[in-house]
Formats: sequence, structure tokens, C-alpha cells
Amino acid sequence: MQGQVTVANLGYPRIGEEREWKKALEGYWSGKSTKEAFVAEMERIQLAHIETQKGKQLDSIPVNDFTYYDHMLDMAVMFGVIPARYKHTGDTVSLDTYYAMARGNATATACEMTKWFNTNYHYIVPEISNEAPRLTENKPLSAYRFAKTKAGIEGRPVIVGLYTFLKLSKGFPAAQLPEKIAQFLPVYVTMLQQLEAVGAAWVQIDEPSLVTDTNAEEFALVESIYDRISKEVPKLNIMLQTYFEAAEHYEKLIKLPVSGIGLDFVHDNGGNAASLAAHSWSADKWLGAGIIDGRNIWRADLDAKLAIVEGLLKQVPAERLILQPSCSLLHVPVSLAREVKMNETIKGALAYASEKLDELMLLKALLNGQQESVTADRDKCRDALAQFRALPERNRRDVADSIAAINGVRDGRNLPFSERVHVQRDKWKLPLLPTTTIGSFPQTPEVRQARLKWRRNEWDQAQYDAYVNKEIESCIRIQEEIGLDVLVHGEFERTDMVEFFGEKLDGFLFTQNGWVQSYGSRCVKPPVIYGDVAFAAPMTVKESAYAQSLTSLPVKGMLTGPITILNWSFVRDDLSREAVANQIALSLKSEVLALENAGIEMIQVDEPALREGLPLKKQDQEAYLNWAVKAFRLSTASVKDTTQIHTHMCYCEFHDMIDSILALDADVISIETSRSHGELIASFELQGYDHGIGLGVYDIHSPRVPSVDEMSEMIDRALRVLDPELFWINPDCGLKTRGWAETAPSLKNMIQAAKQAREKL
Ligand code: GLN
Ligand code: ZN
Repeated sequence: MQGQVTVANLGYPRIGEEREWKKALEGYWSGKSTKEAFVAEMERIQLAHIETQKGKQLDSIPVNDFTYYDHMLDMAVMFGVIPARYKHTGDTVSLDTYYAMARGNATATACEMTKWFNTNYHYIVPEISNEAPRLTENKPLSAYRFAKTKAGIEGRPVIVGLYTFLKLSKGFPAAQLPEKIAQFLPVYVTMLQQLEAVGAAWVQIDEPSLVTDTNAEEFALVESIYDRISKEVPKLNIMLQTYFEAAEHYEKLIKLPVSGIGLDFVHDNGGNAASLAAHSWSADKWLGAGIIDGRNIWRADLDAKLAIVEGLLKQVPAERLILQPSCSLLHVPVSLAREVKMNETIKGALAYASEKLDELMLLKALLNGQQESVTADRDKCRDALAQFRALPERNRRDVADSIAAINGVRDGRNLPFSERVHVQRDKWKLPLLPTTTIGSFPQTPEVRQARLKWRRNEWDQAQYDAYVNKEIESCIRIQEEIGLDVLVHGEFERTDMVEFFGEKLDGFLFTQNGWVQSYGSRCVKPPVIYGDVAFAAPMTVKESAYAQSLTSLPVKGMLTGPITILNWSFVRDDLSREAVANQIALSLKSEVLALENAGIEMIQVDEPALREGLPLKKQDQEAYLNWAVKAFRLSTASVKDTTQIHTHMCYCEFHDMIDSILALDADVISIETSRSHGELIASFELQGYDHGIGLGVYDIHSPRVPSVDEMSEMIDRALRVLDPELFWINPDCGLKTRGWAETAPSLKNMIQAAKQAREKL
């Protein structure tokens, strides 16, 4: 008989269909539930996820993908990597210590959190010290046993690979990686041996770091890890899983002494498929073929997927081929079942985690000769996609025409900055070291309440507008009294900087239950770009113009940039991201011009997420940055010479991106820096940044009121390297999460510090 393909999942979303996981965590943290009740609820959720997958009859179900917070934190705790500030003692690690590491407590700050590769998931960064690692618990083993006793399944424990774990950790110089591997490997091996001893057949070892630039020495370390594991844990089958891009060192990778290799065939830019076609696959190895997109919400085109699998089957025998999502389904919402209000045609084209597993099972049936049983499902898929593709919103003539004419749209300002700056100085007559804010002012419970009333139709539009206007007016008066030079309207009408624009632009859709985990219990519900994006009507003019009418000081208009809108949404996948960015850019250009027309001649276009779309491999980064920068310029370059374009970015590593930031050609950029001031100033100096720049002089993430002196110190330091003619003074980021109690005094101190700095010039 011909071999049969099988299906595996790589990880199930943790948050639960109704975000019960989030609610359980928050209930426990707030003291509303006891530890016992909390653990019972978490176990119930963990089991429910296993049962759901069991019900779908997957051949391999992941375990240990479930966590009480984050899988990297779990790894750190398992190996006893617990920073001294948590004063941990004893063999096992308590939940209190675990959550102190995740969130901080009264005496110790939380561990750093950062983005998991190029996703919007954030993991806790392990802090490696000189202390020897040890096994405080065997979490994969507990998860394996849990699944076996409670659900009667042989789960496949998911474990972060040692190479990736250490690559993503901090606390030691890169040159010490070999020593750290040597130190951790025996403990890692013990953990695997315990799994082997209880009869676990497979583990999934995730090594996504193997898709990032890896040099030969680094790959040799990877070889040493898996050589040692294969010798010491010979009976355990290892699926060495990569995802998010094409694997590096493919030829050597497929020769590692493991039972299977998992590759991403969705986000590999064709790289994995090309490597597979070019090299023979060793007959005894399994291929984990990531063919269903684990990072986006679109229904798969089964015919296209089948064609890909046929290609794989030329190299790999069916019985060695495992169909799977491209990565853990952590990055997509749980199930479409609760999307009851959605347009049926659009819903028909979506697949969340649960539906993606169904797609895999459907593909399996089609490949294993059970076509008859699934013809109806296959036809349904074809019909749904055909209907969706034909939607007029996805095929707009006007949008196609404006994209076709894009070469005629300005993507560079009329005058170079060196000339514009004089024209703008004459127009604006701002003092040296002008002071401003990043846009939002406190979103008090009252503001949120008002929006809720309006959303629930308890308030009509006029009532809501009147309320927002009242807030704007008081915000303008407060800013005047504080003594700021450039004012903002305060963003009281916005909940979220992408949602606000998505709701007003054509081509966006908002889901009811499309939640994904961002970090810990925090979930986000990204907008969905399903159609052609187009400007429908002015989005921000009303509020900005009203604010400007109240004062003789300049009021900055406030927009979210095209790349941030793109990177914080689920994006249609029939067009390139660049093409969608251009559609958004042209729409924003209309808004920029509408603002200018209404007399708003300072306009800030925020791009906090510019870096988030950066490809993982260096070789692809330049192309991304080029089209991203171009999209920003398309949005902003058509204004008059005197119109001042601002932009803002939150804290991220800028040092390798300063050329691109400069290429945005914004007249002024404000950057979040107070937590890494020295470093940042140095890199801007080094690379000769010569446009207007505001380095945030205080951290808005804390309610603490910064003193005049500490801000003065920051300003003096910056002015030692930056041109005072180009320097602006502002907080780090928007103030929407702050209260008024600390906001006004903090800004007053900032103004005081600015005055002192001016006197010294
Ligand atoms: N203008 C936005 C605000 O002030 C910027 C937010 C951000 O940078 N994330 O809230
Ligand atoms: Zn910011």
C-alpha cells in the first residue's frame, strides 16, 4: 500500500475561545481567585485545548505549548535561570517568583520583554548569570503526563531548542555562547532523558533562531548540541522545528542526527522549497511541512496547497511527510465559531487556529485517497474563495488607477531639508529648543466611558462630538498654561492608533473575537485588511481644526503612518505587503492634504512599528526599508515647503536604521529614548543625523514626576552632540496611559528644563 501522510500541530493558542486564560490570569493576579481555583481553571483550559485537537483526530498533538505566562519564561524557570533580585531560594520555583519575573513585584523589576522574532508576540528575556543551571522541574514531562492521564493521548512535548534559548537570552557576551552551551547541555539532556524514560516517542524542539543569519561557527555549535543529544537520548525522536523563514545551512541541517526536520513553506520566500528540490532527502527522516499559514487568518487555497505538497512528495515519501501549520498557531485567533456578526462572504474566506487544523485534515484526506469523503468540503472551500475574490471591495477600479499612477505622486519634498528648514523657521518663528508632546493626553475613565456610550448608541454623534470638543478645549487650555510651544488636540476620540484609522478607511474589517496574545495576559485584536484600502472622507480634520481654532499657537495634526497600520493588521495575502503599504500611503496622503487645506500645517505621522516589519535575514532588510520609507514619503511629501512633517517612533534599536530614518525626510522626529539615552545620542551623532529631532526627556511609562534637574541633564547631554537649532524637547511617547495628576507637573518641569537650557545657549 502507498504510504500515508500525517498531520501535526505545532502549538495551539493559549488564550481560550473566550479569552478564559487571560481572565484566569488576571483574576489570580488581582486576588479574586485563590491559587487552587486558578490552577484548576488553568488545567481545565489546558485539557480543553488537548481535547479540541484530539477531536480533530490529528496524528500528533503538541503539549507543553501551554504555559502560565510565556514559553521562554518557562524555559528560564525550568533551568533555574532566576535573577538574584527575586531572592529565590529552595529547589522548586513558586508561582509568586514566576510572576515576579514576568511582571515585577514591590521590590524587583520585571525581566525585560521583547518581540519573538518578527511576530507581535513578546517573550520574557532570560537573564543568564554565572550560576550553574539546574533542573528545577521538568515541565515538558509534566505536560506529557498531564495529556496522557487526563486525555489518554501521547502528546508531543514542545521545547525551545537550546541554541535558540541561549541566542535569545542576555547576560553574557556572544563570544561565550560555546561555554554557555557546554554548561546548559547536560541539564537539557537530563530533561530529555526523563522524557525518554517514561516512553515519550517524540519531542518537538523549536529552533527558530536557525532561520536568522547563522555563521559557520554558530552552526557548528548547533551540530554539537544535536550530536550530543542523539548519543545521550537515542530512543527519543526529535522533530527539529524551524519557522518564520527559510532555514540557514540547509544541507547541513538535514543531516543532523534527528528524526525529523520541520520547515516553513509559507514564509520562506520559496527558499525551503528550492533547497528541498535541489538536495535529496534522506529516506529515514520525516519532513514536517509547514504549509498552512500559522500567522495569518486567511483560508487556504487547497488546490494551491496540494500543488505544493505534490512537489514535496517528489523528494519525500508520503509516510515520511507530516502536514503542519507553518508555525505555532499562537499567532492567530482561536476559532471562527464566535464571529457571528461578520459578513458571510468574508467569514467564508477566513480560517483561525481551529479551522486551520481542519484544513490540514482535509488536505490529508485528499492526499491519502479519501477524496470522496471530503469533496463537499473541498467544493465549499473553492466556492468560498471564489466569492471572496470577486468582492468589489477587493477589485476597485479607482484604487487600481491610483496605484497605476503612483509614479506621478511626489515621493520627495519640493525643497531639500537644508533649504526647507529656513523657510519653516521664518514661518513658524518657534523659540530655540521648541517644546511639544507626542499626541495623546490622559484617556481618563470618563473619556472611555463617553466613547462606550456613543458606541452603544446611548449617545448620538452630536453628543459625543460635543464631549470630545470639551475635552479638546480643556486640553488646549492646559497646554497653553503649561507653556508648550506646539500643541496637540489630545486624541480623546481614539482608542487605538490603528483601529481609529481602520474604521474610517475603506478596505478594513474588524472582528468580534479575533484576539491574539501579545504578551502575558495582554491580547490584541488586529484589524483585518481584506479589501483595497482607500480614503473615504477626512478622518482627523474635524478635531484638529477645532483645536487650532481655539489657540494662536500651532496645533500639530496627528496621523498613524502607513507602515504602522500595515504591521499592526492582518493583511490580505493576494497582494504584496508593499502594494498594500502603497494603498495605505495614498489614502493617508489625502488626509495629510485635507489637514493642510484646513490650516493644519504641522502634521505628525507616527511610525512606531516601522522596525516591526523588518525581515529576519539581513539580505532582505534593505528592500523592506526601501519600500517602507517610500510609503512614508508618498504619504507626506506632497505638502507645501512651509508645512512641517513630524514623525514619532517608540523605543527600539535604531542604531542600524538611522539611514532609513533620515530617508523618511521628516522635518522633525521624536524618539523614545529616556531609558537608553546615552547610547542613542551616540548613534545619532555618529551617523550625522541632520534633521529636526526630539529625544524624549522623560519616561512616560511611570507615574513618577521627573525633576527639572534630571531632564536638564538629559538635554545638556544631547546638546553636547546635537545642533541646538534642530533640537526639540518632548516626553518619550504619548501620555494616554498617564493620569492628569502627574502629567501636568511633569510637563511643567519639562518646560522649566527647556527654559534653563535656552538660557545656557
Ligand atoms: N501619537 C500617539 C500617541 O501619542 C503615538 C503613540 C505611539 O507612539 N505608540 O499616543
Ligand atoms: Zn511612542
